Amino acid sequence: MRRALFGLLALFLLLPLGGCGRDPLYESAFLAMDTVVQLRFSREGVSDADLKAAAAECEAIVARIEGAISRTAASSETVRFNASAGGIASSDEDFLAVLSASLRAAEETEGAVSPALGRLTELWNVSGGGYVPTEAELAEARAHCDWRALSVADGFAAKTDAALCLDFGAIGKGYAAARLIEYLVTTGIRWGLVSLGGNVALFGEKPDGRAFRVGLTDPADKAAVAGYLSVPDGFVSVSGDYERYFEADGVRYHHIFDPATGRPAASGLHAAAVWSRDGTLADALSTALFVMGAERALAFYDAHPGLFEAVLIADGAIRVTPGLTEGGFEAAGAYSLIP
Ligand code: ADP
Ligand code: MG
Repeated sequence: MRRALFGLLALFLLLPLGGCGRDPLYESAFLAMDTVVQLRFSREGVSDADLKAAAAECEAIVARIEGAISRTAASSETVRFNASAGGIASSDEDFLAVLSASLRAAEETEGAVSPALGRLTELWNVSGGGYVPTEAELAEARAHCDWRALSVADGFAAKTDAALCLDFGAIGKGYAAARLIEYLVTTGIRWGLVSLGGNVALFGEKPDGRAFRVGLTDPADKAAVAGYLSVPDGFVSVSGDYERYFEADGVRYHHIFDPATGRPAASGLHAAAVWSRDGTLADALSTALFVMGAERALAFYDAHPGLFEAVLIADGAIRVTPGLTEGGFEAAGAYSLIP
């Protein structure tokens, strides 16, 4: 039930628009990776049987990835790794690829996004109802959250800290989105989208070469929209403080941690949306930019030209990266765009 509820909330986060033109869409959905996975394919030139088969294959791909990287699924590589003292030999390509990509992201972002925060995720238990840890508990968990204790090479994933636990929550859905698109572009389906919680993958070319329009939920009012992204194919990932949280003594604790404090990040941002041609990276960076806050995020953008574009949502004000200033983003509702 909780799973389903989270999924529905997450789905609301991104409202892909513009898909309801002349082309009737094939739609289907399933639950996986703690969220609702939603598929929308153009029917143009593809039989119903082929669309159904493509949807079934998508479900199989996500199940395969979840089975490898989940922190909770009984026999996943992540569970095996977390239980080990020094790491594991693995031939699972998804596990090794997600670990490598998240270590690269940790290095690039100076640990703002990190696969090594499993002990913190477990401690705060946001998805399981939430718990506000004591200082001592926080310090103990934080002592085992250094991504530099991790390495991966030649089919061996290693850790120098036995108590370190992996958590791919910030990157797994983006990786799955990327693998899904890799498959979907081989199916003959002209265009479509896949959404996994806060990750939307857009593929193919829409009729008339129109852009994909993606609505970003207003963090202050989940029924409203803070603005619209207009992007070509690629991946949009959103991290926000309004998706998954719990309240205790009137304080709201959300699920994205600042590795520097071990507490829910308080950077002034309520949401960070990232567009990139790399789905895994989009997911990693939406989490990282959310932790960094607007100033650091924009400096990071300047240092990484051509890699991504971003929308940073704070109280009443939105900043966008230069690639979005000309028609790429339109603020809505109570929001104004800071130049
Ligand atoms: P969502 O999973 O809701 O789409 P994110 O992609 O931002 O949102 O990932 C948040 C999840 O990643 C958390 O639920 C937690 O499991 C994990 N996490 C939290 N903070 C961090 C962080 N700074 N770096 C890496 N993973 C994190
Ligand atoms: Mg993320």
